[in-house]
Amino acid sequence: MSDLPYSINTENGVRYFSCKLLDGVDFLSHAFGSRQGGVSEGHFSTLNLSAAVGDDEANVLQNRQLFCRALGINTQQVFGVNQVHGNNVLVIDKQLLAKWQTGKLKQAISADAMVTDQPGVALTVLTADCLPIIIVDPQNRAVAMVHAGWRGTCRGVIQQTLNRLAECYGGSPDNWLIGMGPCIGDCCYEVGSEVVNIFRESYPDWHIYCSYKGDKWSFDLTGANISQLLKAGVRPENICKLNMCSACHPEDFFSYRKTNGATGRMMSLVMLK
Ligand SMILES: [Zn+2]
Repeated sequence: MSDLPYSINTENGVRYFSCKLLDGVDFLSHAFGSRQGGVSEGHFSTLNLSAAVGDDEANVLQNRQLFCRALGINTQQVFGVNQVHGNNVLVIDKQLLAKWQTGKLKQAISADAMVTDQPGVALTVLTADCLPIIIVDPQNRAVAMVHAGWRGTCRGVIQQTLNRLAECYGGSPDNWLIGMGPCIGDCCYEVGSEVVNIFRESYPDWHIYCSYKGDKWSFDLTGANISQLLKAGVRPENICKLNMCSACHPEDFFSYRKTNGATGRMMSLVMLK
């Protein structure tokens, strides 16, 4: 057993990461995907899971099957949203789920977070540098999946998701477990002073995750979200972070920044069994 807070798993060549903190929750499936184990080529090599970035459609479809099979879930269970860097939280209740399962939901709903207490639906986000965050309420058997880039972080998407979880299912953040996936690290995430100024105006703790190195600002995306989680009452020992920079590890992760946008997307997933 390694000292790392996460596990590295390989199943039929599909590589994914999981938080040990969440591995112990028996009613849960979760994964932070990598780019390894698929059939796509070139920029999308190999496990690109987005059909909206110019990759061959048949390859994306096959990648979805390979990824799902590795996790022991059905592709029909994969639920995604149209990610727009906002703070809208979609509640997936029985009604919405039934509508989706019967093919009556004609297009993806725009949102950057999802919450549910319904088993059998895998909440997913697609990323290449942005931060995927899983929230688990073990008492009330509810989960959330969040997509956070700097814009969503600034708009408080994580806080909105915590609020929505509490409203919908009861419970409070001091009992919740958090898994934070791979994203661009402050080693590689240079931002303009206009980004720093936006945080400075709204967040008194901005200096914890915005730092001036050399003559440039860098942004700690994971740190900014941890700061909001702690402020909301999440306990530090209940947060598991991968701490792997997507731009520093091109063999494992797609990175939008590193490639000027010519790249695929990884999938992160959480599901109540
Ligand atoms: Zn880096």
